[in-house]
Amino acid sequence: MGLLVAKFGGSSAADGIQIRKIRSIVESDPNRRYIVVSAPGKRFDGDNKVTDLLYLLASHADHNAPYEQLFQVIKERFLGMESDLGVAVGIANEFIIIEKALKTGAASADYLASRGEYLSAKLIAAFLGFDFVDTAGLVLFSGKGKFLYEDTNAALAKELAKHERAVLPGFYGSVPDGSVKTFSRGGSDITGALAARAAGAAVYENWTDVSGFLMADPRIIPEAKAISHISYKELRELSYMGASVLHENAIYPARLAGIPINIRNTNAPEDSGTFISADDTPAEGSVITGIAGNRDFTVIGIYKNMMSNEIGFIKRILSILEDYSVPIEHIPSGIDTVSLVIANKFLEGKLGDLIEDFEKKLGADSIELFEDMSLIATVGCRMASHRGVAAKLFGALCKAGVNIRMIDQGSSEMNIIVGVETKDFEVAIRAIYDTFIGGQSGE
Ligand code: ASP
Repeated sequence: MGLLVAKFGGSSAADGIQIRKIRSIVESDPNRRYIVVSAPGKRFDGDNKVTDLLYLLASHADHNAPYEQLFQVIKERFLGMESDLGVAVGIANEFIIIEKALKTGAASADYLASRGEYLSAKLIAAFLGFDFVDTAGLVLFSGKGKFLYEDTNAALAKELAKHERAVLPGFYGSVPDGSVKTFSRGGSDITGALAARAAGAAVYENWTDVSGFLMADPRIIPEAKAISHISYKELRELSYMGASVLHENAIYPARLAGIPINIRNTNAPEDSGTFISADDTPAEGSVITGIAGNRDFTVIGIYKNMMSNEIGFIKRILSILEDYSVPIEHIPSGIDTVSLVIANKFLEGKLGDLIEDFEKKLGADSIELFEDMSLIATVGCRMASHRGVAAKLFGALCKAGVNIRMIDQGSSEMNIIVGVETKDFEVAIRAIYDTFIGGQSGE
């Protein structure tokens, strides 16, 4: 096995107990040379993530509200970790610097939020006996805040080459004047992927609190099996539909460099987790890789006689949607009919006016509205080479008494999306799972 970059998320860095687990994982394989860490996350249900507290601190400071108590809570959390881990990284001093920045108005929200990762990396580097390498000055953004891939890759590669072993804070980098800029929430995953690419890692390990992706949402299918291998393409389909473990922008750098990502569980390091790679032609396994779904869609069904011969009809629909800034999820069509599948959140406060505009401008014979729709994607790269998958899927839904309102199969034949009434959402997922996976080989 070659070099490994291991990223540990907030739950893995939540306190001394978790950080000791990080140490035993890192020490169990000397190839784990570069470690990227998140800010401390929740230690128990109802606890606060340090990043949330830091954003709250920023907003208090911004509104000139008293923040001293909050500041103290955050400081004490890090002081407690420093003493629990038995390291001396000058946490008290770091908080003097942060306080000064707050008092002089120099502390931006990005800067404050980044301190969670910065201090977490300092503590963990000291505890592991690794170098601390700050990512400000290495993870680079333009003055306008655009992320600079290639410059970052070059800067990180050059710096990492100087360190045999290092811990890097995730989530942030800097703009040319040196000020800190963060990625969006969950962005330490991106830093991990960037470090993996720059270091030429054999595998990018992403350590979290679940043993990889499950084939279906465990709140609906408690016994859902773990996915051992998934391709980038399948993952994109599943995460688009709501299955999320990894920041979606973390996939690109790893994919670009052809580095597989391995999702692992810090609390169960014996589990091999899920491997995400470019390989979408696995020799064996069940026909489907996973099932994901999303509630809260509306379908607008438009019928117009001879629509199929009318030039520019869809274009007119799209331009009306554009006027309302409403994106569409899917546009399944039939002869003289077209359905627009739209997430409810984009229609809030607009639906009535939008329908009125459609009625005025499209000359349609009828416009029907189906609210409370859900979409379910059944994904698997092996579906393309198997006959009868659709029949089996529709048969299962029929047997479960679920009425299918819409069907959409991607041109890659890697997924079948069905629209069902939201009341049938869970029943439908259960029926698909039981048919393809439950207790059988899935063939
Ligand atoms: N700490 C940041 C957040 O909570 C980034 C991360 O953990 O990936 O969003």
